[in-house]
Amino acid sequence: MAFAVEVHELRKAYGSRRAVDGVDFTVELGEIVALLGPNGAGKTTTVEMCAGFRRPDSGSVRVLGTEPFRAPATWKARIGVVTQQTTDLKELTVAQAVWAISGCYGTPRPAAEVIEAVGLTEQSDQRCELLSGGQRRRLEVALGILGSPELLFLDEPTTGFDPEARRMFWSLIEQLRADGTTILLTTHYLDEAEHLADRVGVIAAGRMLEINTPELIGGRAGALSAVSWVEDGHPHTEHTATPTELVRRLAARIDGEIVGLSIARPTLEDVYVRMINEVE
Ligand code: ATP
Repeated sequence: MAFAVEVHELRKAYGSRRAVDGVDFTVELGEIVALLGPNGAGKTTTVEMCAGFRRPDSGSVRVLGTEPFRAPATWKARIGVVTQQTTDLKELTVAQAVWAISGCYGTPRPAAEVIEAVGLTEQSDQRCELLSGGQRRRLEVALGILGSPELLFLDEPTTGFDPEARRMFWSLIEQLRADGTTILLTTHYLDEAEHLADRVGVIAAGRMLEINTPELIGGRAGALSAVSWVEDGHPHTEHTATPTELVRRLAARIDGEIVGLSIARPTLEDVYVRMINEVE
C-alpha cells in the first residue's frame, strides 16, 4: 500500500449546498499534507469524510486501505483526529482528562510525556474548563496524539495559539514526522503550511485547485521576482524571471554597493491569493 489517503471524485452536499464538489488527492505514507482554502471551502468536510465522521454522497475515500465510514475499531485505533469541536471534559483536570482518554487505547503514550509535548505541564492540575482558548486547543492536540496514531488528522490545530505555542507545535509535528506519522492538516496560516507540509492542497468552492509542493504551487518557481534598488537617488523596481541576470547588469553599471538592493520572490501567500481570486 503506497498511500495513506486516497480520495477520488469525493462529493458531499448539505441540502442544496455542495460543500465538497469532486475532490481528488492522495497522501503518501509518512507525508505531511496541508489543505488551504477560504472559510467554507470544504476543508473540514473533506477531513471529516477521511476520518469517517461523515459519509460521502459519492466518490471514494480510502484511508489506510479502508473505507472510513464503515471502518472497524481496529482501524480507528490507528488514526488520531483533532477536530474544531471541543471534547466534553467537564470538571476534569488536564492530567485526569489525558488519563481518562488513555483508557481508549491499548498502548497509549505516557500521559506526562504527551502533556509535556504540548507544553501543558504547568497546567496539569488545572481544570480543563479553566484553560485559555489556546491551552484548550493544545489539550485537544494532546488527546489526538495519545494513541501514537499512524495517521493524524488535524483540523486547524493551531488556531488561537500564541507564537511560542505555535513554534512548539511545529517541533511536535516534526518529531511525529521523524517517527513516520502521516499527517493531513488544515490551516489558515500559510507560514505554517510552508514550514510543515511536504505538499499543500488549495481548495476553493469544494474543489481542489492544485496540490503541489510549497515551492512549486501556483507556478511559484517560474513566477516573476521583484528586484528593487536605488540609483542616482531614485528608487527602481523591475519584475523579472531572471533576477540574477538583472543584478549582474546592475553590478556592472553601478560602482560599489547597490543601494537598497532587494529581490522579492512571490510568497506562498502571493500565489495563494492569486489562485483564490481567480476562482471568485
Ligand atoms: P473553515 O475554514 O471556515 O473551517 P472549511 O473549508 O472547513 O471552512 P467546511 O466547514 O467544510 O469548510 O464547510 C463547507 C460548506 O459547507 C460551508 O458553506 C458550510 O457553511 C457548509 N457546512 C458545513 N457543515 C455543515 C452542516 N453540518 N450543515 C450544513 N452546512 C454545513
